[in-house]
Amino acid sequence: MTHATHALSDEITTLRDAAVTALATVESLDKAIAWERAYLGPKGRVTSLLRGLSGLAAEDRPQAGRDTQALRAELAERFEAVRERLAVAARQRHLAEDAIDVTLPGRPVAIGAAHPVSRMIDEVIEIFAHLGFQAVFGPEVETARYNFDLLNIPANHPARDVWDTIIVESERDDVVLRTHTSPMQARTMERIQPPVRVIVPGRSYRYEAQDASHEWMFTQLEGLAVDEHITLADLKGVLQEMARQLFGPRRRVRFRCDFFPFVEPGVDFAVDCAICEGAGCRVCKQSGWLEMGGAGMVHPNVLRVVGYDPARYTGFAFGLGIERIIMMKYGVDDLRAFAGNDLRFLRQFARAVV
Ligand SMILES: [Zn+2]
Repeated sequence: MTHATHALSDEITTLRDAAVTALATVESLDKAIAWERAYLGPKGRVTSLLRGLSGLAAEDRPQAGRDTQALRAELAERFEAVRERLAVAARQRHLAEDAIDVTLPGRPVAIGAAHPVSRMIDEVIEIFAHLGFQAVFGPEVETARYNFDLLNIPANHPARDVWDTIIVESERDDVVLRTHTSPMQARTMERIQPPVRVIVPGRSYRYEAQDASHEWMFTQLEGLAVDEHITLADLKGVLQEMARQLFGPRRRVRFRCDFFPFVEPGVDFAVDCAICEGAGCRVCKQSGWLEMGGAGMVHPNVLRVVGYDPARYTGFAFGLGIERIIMMKYGVDDLRAFAGNDLRFLRQFARAVV
């Protein structure tokens, strides 16, 4: 072995020890890559050593070349091992950082509750479903034809003034916000033949000054039954059943004569006060009765305009306020509370009504 190959052999040993020692301290992928560049890169120390071999004597070159290549291979292998270990560790660290502890209790989410009016609509739909009535829903923006004409309230008839109507600005002059849910009477009867048994819950609108018992928007419940042989007794039976389901099994219903253009005869109906059992108290203003709404036998003209034969068919209709039911049932004394968006008021019903 020549002096030159001795010197090279020492250099390889020194370089290997330095590289292995340096690699042992590497603790990140960045530093591992920097180490690779320093030793194995195009300008790295092992590469420089290989280039230097051309300066050796021809007979020394093969052995020197093998030794240097062996060093290069060993360091490359060590580097791969370190890089793999660091990559696995980095991946595990990321997973640990993103991990979700599924055993921790969840954060409470504030969920809303149905509005008391929506809950009461659901309740009356259920009550009337047991009586064979189907719930139907109609447009809140109506034409005067359905809101008035087909309900036996012709234009210029003084009865139209009873409903303080909100007119909708449009190219036509006959578009209104419905003043009651009664337009669905004609809309339903145009669509189907008797027997008819429907209820219509929905918003209605009147041009009114607001106070504790008046709102420009309220929720009406309409009822309509048309068939052969329907009488006022059927109407009373249905309203009595509704009152008993809503206010208790002993409730009684009272009819008194009233006038509405689309019924004949017309009545207003009241339920005896559940609080004082009819004896008289503050809630019923000592009368023993609570006014609920209007009703009556469907006027023959209303049947005729939708093509029903009034000689064969009779029917009853009724209308009442959903808010009024809630006020009576839970002792609410101000109608404005329902659209007032006061959560303290609304939350009481989230517990009271299921
Ligand atoms: Zn009372």
